Amino acid sequence: MTNISSTVESEAFSNQNDLALLERSKKVIPGGVNSPVRSFSHVGGCPIFINSGKGPRFFTADGRNYIDYIGSWGPLILGHSHQIVVEAISKALLSGTSFGAPTLAEVEFAELISEIVPSLEMLRLVSSGTEATMSAVRLARGFTNREYVLKFDGCYHGHADVFLVKAGSGIATLGIAGSSGVTSATVSQTVSVEYNALASVEEVLSQIGPEKFAAIIVEPVAGNMGLVLPKPEFLKGLREICNKFGIVLIFDEVMSGFRVALGGAAERFDVKPDLMTLGKVIGGGLPVGAFGGRRDIMNKLAPLGPVYQAGTLSGNPLAVSAGHAVLKYLKENNPYPALEESTKKLAEGLKQVASKYEVNLQTPVCGSMFGIFFSAKPVENFSQAKSCRTDLFKKFFHQMLAKGIYLAPSPFEAGFMSITHDDKIISETLTIADSIFSKFNA
Ligand code: PLP
Repeated sequence: MTNISSTVESEAFSNQNDLALLERSKKVIPGGVNSPVRSFSHVGGCPIFINSGKGPRFFTADGRNYIDYIGSWGPLILGHSHQIVVEAISKALLSGTSFGAPTLAEVEFAELISEIVPSLEMLRLVSSGTEATMSAVRLARGFTNREYVLKFDGCYHGHADVFLVKAGSGIATLGIAGSSGVTSATVSQTVSVEYNALASVEEVLSQIGPEKFAAIIVEPVAGNMGLVLPKPEFLKGLREICNKFGIVLIFDEVMSGFRVALGGAAERFDVKPDLMTLGKVIGGGLPVGAFGGRRDIMNKLAPLGPVYQAGTLSGNPLAVSAGHAVLKYLKENNPYPALEESTKKLAEGLKQVASKYEVNLQTPVCGSMFGIFFSAKPVENFSQAKSCRTDLFKKFFHQMLAKGIYLAPSPFEAGFMSITHDDKIISETLTIADSIFSKFNA
């Protein structure tokens, strides 16, 4: 074990094999990673190179194993390499990997999603969450003939130019206000206000003119600034504002869809958006996204209408087969009450062991998502998330990692449970957390 971090001093330990692979990777892949949040840039140290996964754990080539609380950033609600997913992909594989033409499998998949989430009267499949959100915004603009988009500080909607204004996740993690390469013209019609603050929404709409707004896009459960739950009146208030001014309400459920309930946050909080975006869980670990909603809006999409959107691999047979297997399992087995119970067991357990040693910790839960904030008070928005003790998070992260517990490598991310995170896994995690907090020195 070598101490390589200058940012987290003695806390960040890295394995020699990971270090060697990172150096090799850096020569051909910028920063050695294919998505910035994987780089450990906010916590220091070296990312772990994963070789395989099974259930709640993953393994490295040199035989280390970790309990995984990220689950590929949300998709793996059934855990790693679940048998039904492996079987579904294997079966589809034998029939061909891509056709670029319609298939029965994608029709059945879309029907299943629409049956589970009735507000999705029609939907289109894409290959990532980013594609889903950027297409939904284009569609909202095309439908309303308006140009402004309102989003919320700390919410992340993928990396399309229009969203890179005070975004959460990797952007927040890197502490960048936007991104180089995004023109000021592109973001001049994106307005970002504090999450959970209806008054700010009303203020901005009246300043700019509500008739100029095509869409309000929101993570109905925010998982990209840590986990922040909507206040009871927030989502209903957004619905009313959008109704009043003819603005398209987009729920970005790429993370919360099929996670916080079978029907996502829309079902859980009983608010119907005009459009919804999905990703992560619906792909079962393969690249799938979707956007959909009101039929009159979806009818504007090419080839029916004037809003263009397309994709060579959209509705890819392997991805659709994996997603279908997962959604069918979720629908038939309803694991949500048990998932929430185990997530609460973990989250409340972490809070308890922290408070035993006088460490202030907030561990919000929604369905099978949880957050970890080193704070004495609950967190309601991005400003509060940023003012938590991120130094303590880094320390905790590295000490847990050293004991085989893999949490998200950033204080601005959520944690994800799967149906395979059982009592044994949770109690192993809590025992380790207890031993860490007992010497924590907060
Ligand atoms: N929307 C939300 C809420 C997300 O959490 C993410 C990714 O984390 C995205 C959109 C982008 O999805 P993808 O990374 O598949 O492009």
